[in-house]
Amino acid sequence: MNVLIVYAHPEPHSLNSALKNVMVEQLLALGHQVQVSDLYAMNWKATLDAADFTLDRQGKPFDPSGDSRRGYEEGLQRPDITGEQEKLRWADTVIFQFPLWWFTMPAIMKGWFERVYAFGLAYGVGEHSATHWGDRYGEGRMIGKRAMLVVTTGGWESHYHPRGVNGHIDDILFPIHHGMLWYPGFDVLPPHVIYQARKMDAQRFEEECEKLNARMKTLGNTAPLPFRRQNGGDYLIPSLILRPDLAEGESGFGVHLQR
Ligand code: FAD
Repeated sequence: MNVLIVYAHPEPHSLNSALKNVMVEQLLALGHQVQVSDLYAMNWKATLDAADFTLDRQGKPFDPSGDSRRGYEEGLQRPDITGEQEKLRWADTVIFQFPLWWFTMPAIMKGWFERVYAFGLAYGVGEHSATHWGDRYGEGRMIGKRAMLVVTTGGWESHYHPRGVNGHIDDILFPIHHGMLWYPGFDVLPPHVIYQARKMDAQRFEEECEKLNARMKTLGNTAPLPFRRQNGGDYLIPSLILRPDLAEGESGFGVHLQR
């Protein structure tokens, strides 16, 4: 299997860096091909802007999604963007690894999604009709690929309990899982979260490595999160509201999972 690790931590001596190295070693030992996009080491440009495209705009203002569409279709994107898109095509599984910073990924990784996920690649794909609202949420160009988050937190596991003060971890990760991975068609594996990561000693580190290695061994056969397919009949089109007879009387992120 081809595994791409998109990794964001600025410090090569960090816990995240050590865990990333463990993961790479384990994946190689299992016979997989591995590529790592180490975003800080690559000096990845985090902002999507006009300089990302070598378009002649003929005086027209920068249009983030319109220019993305033309840039992608006509091969007018900057090489750092096309390089990452090529890695995405190559990968069977993509692992996104990061420390939780302000309840989401570090800005540099958000910028990876904004710039690499072009119009025509990750969104703006497929036809719209009375029964089909574009290829998204379970369909799209990432179909057949798996994705998984490896996340460290400062907070305790109980702080991310369904009734914990930080909010349930499933809710915090929902915009990434559902909006950034399921949307373009990835099968999304349950995340691997390492809580209270600053409280780490040699023994706990060994234990965490074992747990992470176990996840690497089952990458190919772990059941994905059972998100509902947008065009599978569960949502009314074009309102895209869940049918009233499903998860009756409920609302919130959880209704988008099949029970
Ligand atoms: P490090 O600080 O590098 O290491 C953690 C511990 O592991 C240290 O004790 C270190 O000595 C030890 N260690 C490192 N390498 C090894 C090794 N090889 N073997 C054994 N031990 C080792 N947390 C939240 O829960 N929610 C938030 O919203 C949140 N927001 C944040 C925002 C910012 C801007 C920042 C800076 C932090 C935030 N945090 C938050 C905390 C953050 O998630 C944790 O600090 C981070 O996950 C720890 O990972 P690290 O790789 O940076 O750990």
